[in-house]
Amino acid sequence: MISLSGLTKEFPGGVRAVDSLDLEIGDGEFFALLGPSGCGKTTLLRSIAGLETPTSGKIRIGGVDVTASPPGRRDVAMVFQDYALFPHMDVTSNIAYPLRIKKVSRQRREAKAAETASRLSLSDLLARRPAQLSGGQQQRVALARAIASRPQVFLFDEPLSNLDARLRLEARTFLKRLQRELAVTTVFVTHDQGEALALADRIAVMNAGRIMQVGTPSEVFHRPTDPFVAGFIGSTPMNLLPASAEGGRLHVAGAVLPLPRDVADGPLVYGLRPEYADLSQSAPVGRRDVFSGKVAVVENLGTAHLVTLDSGDLLIQVVVPEGDEPAVGASAWAVPRPGRALLYRDDRLLTGA
Ligand code: ADP
Ligand code: MG
Repeated sequence: MISLSGLTKEFPGGVRAVDSLDLEIGDGEFFALLGPSGCGKTTLLRSIAGLETPTSGKIRIGGVDVTASPPGRRDVAMVFQDYALFPHMDVTSNIAYPLRIKKVSRQRREAKAAETASRLSLSDLLARRPAQLSGGQQQRVALARAIASRPQVFLFDEPLSNLDARLRLEARTFLKRLQRELAVTTVFVTHDQGEALALADRIAVMNAGRIMQVGTPSEVFHRPTDPFVAGFIGSTPMNLLPASAEGGRLHVAGAVLPLPRDVADGPLVYGLRPEYADLSQSAPVGRRDVFSGKVAVVENLGTAHLVTLDSGDLLIQVVVPEGDEPAVGASAWAVPRPGRALLYRDDRLLTGA
């Protein structure tokens, strides 16, 4: 449905916000663009919308080359981070605005606005102006405005980021259900990995104008293809430790682990999610495949604790079930679960260990 090839956007001053990017997004797909602040997500979305002119490359929507088409010719609707509602218009006029631009009759657009408003539980607010609405209500009006014109594509730029935590979770579930019902191709920009994992059919992880990995939430979570993605995805960051393969063994932070057969000797990065190690408060007898250290920090995650072990020159984090958390300063051992670690060499995923 959306096809980007070699897309580049360079701003004056030489910032390459989007750097020779190739991407295919399928019909009806809920697609998330995920990455840290400043990595080029908004620029990419605005390029798809026609609000930025790419420096080079092509954009196709529904098979049509729209690279040079103005926004109005692209049949897309964008929801901005700050909603961008018209302050002097009431809710009905805000929702109906894109239909007015399309020269739909007043009667039809008011009917359409009322119908969309009812779907988003806004029926009692039709006569209000944006300033008379809560943040969550404004967000739903912005969504309603995008939906009312029934575009081929929704473009969302961090639409939930101005909501408080509780409302953000409700809005997320609501948005997911709505997208399923409407089955409209959706590109959703976020810096929040949890939001991307929860909402998307597929995720593109971006860094510095480039796409690092495209995959399903499960793929980017369980098989991140490079250390950047590994460190970015997950509610607690993955442990990424310098390691080396020597004579068929893996040496990491004082531990000696079995090495998968196909890995050659040399330096590696050992990746282990804090959820994939168990914490022992007594020394596991006769085992070298454990990380030993002193408990430096214990953070309460609600139903679990995140324990940071100081193993001399490295920090290792382990998620520990409620009730099993150690005291700060105590000795403890992190026991990695077999088959859960990932090995990287030269920023590329080699294999699991
Ligand atoms: P994100 O949405 O991921 O936070 P942006 O797309 O807003 O990132 O920005 C990507 C990069 O492009 C940043 O370095 C930003 O400073 C730069 N940038 C964005 N818009 C402009 C602009 N209009 N002029 C110059 N630089 C810009
Ligand atoms: Mg942005």
